[in-house]
Amino acid sequence: MTTSAVTAHGYELTSHDFAPSPPGREREFVETGHNLVNAEAPKIENGKPWTRTQLGELFSSLASTGYLRSTIDGPFEPARLTLAQHASLLEGVASRAPFLSNHSAQRYIAESGTDRAKAMYLSSLLSGSMIGAIAVTEPAGGSDARRTQTNLTPNTDGSYLIAGTKTWVTHGLTADLGIVLASDHTGQPRRVIVELDQPGITRTPIASHGLRHLTFASIAFHDAKVEPWNVLDEDGLEGAKKGFATARALVAVQAASIGLSSLYHAVHHLSTRQARGRALTSSEVIRIEIGRMASQLCAARAFAYHAVAAIDENRPDSSAIACAAKSLAARTATETSTRVMQICGGYGFDDLAPFSNYRDDAEMLTTADGTEIINEMVWGKHIIDRILDQR
Ligand SMILES: Cc1cc2nc3c(=O)[nH]c(=O)nc-3n(C[C@H](O)[C@H](O)[C@H](O)COP(=O)(O)OP(=O)(O)OC[C@H]3O[C@@H](n4cnc5c(N)ncnc54)[C@H](O)[C@@H]3O)c2cc1C
Repeated sequence: MTTSAVTAHGYELTSHDFAPSPPGREREFVETGHNLVNAEAPKIENGKPWTRTQLGELFSSLASTGYLRSTIDGPFEPARLTLAQHASLLEGVASRAPFLSNHSAQRYIAESGTDRAKAMYLSSLLSGSMIGAIAVTEPAGGSDARRTQTNLTPNTDGSYLIAGTKTWVTHGLTADLGIVLASDHTGQPRRVIVELDQPGITRTPIASHGLRHLTFASIAFHDAKVEPWNVLDEDGLEGAKKGFATARALVAVQAASIGLSSLYHAVHHLSTRQARGRALTSSEVIRIEIGRMASQLCAARAFAYHAVAAIDENRPDSSAIACAAKSLAARTATETSTRVMQICGGYGFDDLAPFSNYRDDAEMLTTADGTEIINEMVWGKHIIDRILDQR
């Protein structure tokens, strides 16, 4: 069965059950995410991002699904999800609200936070009343997280002062706290929890090309305060890297979701268009195009769930696989959503049709959580090492 919902523009959204479901994908979680977000997500007014209030309501309504809790252990409600269940939920959510995020900060605090930080933030993050952001990228370059120029200086009262600038922070204008990568006074990378509504912090919006329901911002820290209990107990760089694999696998699943949504809408539109006395969906040329794109998207989605399984099984190659899966899915979604715009004729370029949003969102995902070049470099090295190791 394929469920669908009609948006304000009158077009349908789908949970993608027209395509074969790959191993690891849990259909009922896809349906839950899809149905909930289509019922609860607000309309995007004049291309403006959702407000803090709208996001708070959406996250609160998602809390009962496990979206905010994901794989966190502990005595919380609802039950802990497996990573595959969380990925499936995100696939459904991405049909209407791709890259909605706000599920990582709580995972990092649960894994490496002090007891005091857990007590202060976890319940609010898990209920959706607080929004968490991740701040790693800096204006001088985001691909190499080792070069962080944001500094933590010890304060006389035992706290720290943080100074530096982060950029492209998702939920940058709406988040209540950030997990920020910085260097401490000994040069060690540390991740710290920074409350973002305090003096000494300036947030500047970035006018983004896609994902227009969200805000992205540069955040400047001018000696803002970091309490000693808000320093995560880990090597900051290792913590950030560990988080990347999961983030990339989840982006891969969402990118495939965007591509499949654009294909679904294209087929519906083409079925209403006539050429030589018959619907365009009866044309062999169109069938070949649609079939080819569907195969590419199915392969990308299956590889994304393969990456999810590799992470869940803690396989040593999971990080490289997640890089490859993310790169493939974002590229495939970008290519297919661009192609469907072209084969839908004039309607493809009508802003009231969903296609340009799908293409713009997919393009943004090629860079979020690491560019295609960076992800392919990691994957290529992994494959070359594997081949040469077998000599
Ligand atoms: C939608 C979206 C959401 C994001 N959300 C967040 C967020 O929440 N938090 C956060 O911290 N960041 C976020 N980012 C930032 C993102 O992680 C960075 O944009 C990305 O890592 C690339 O960094 P950069 O933009 O500084 O590019 P740069 O590092 O300046 O790279 C520029 C170009 O050089 C290439 N390049 C870099 N290094 C090499 C190399 N060694 N060899 C060859 N080519 C190279 C890159 O592939 C790229 O094409 C987000 C970005 C987007 C688009």
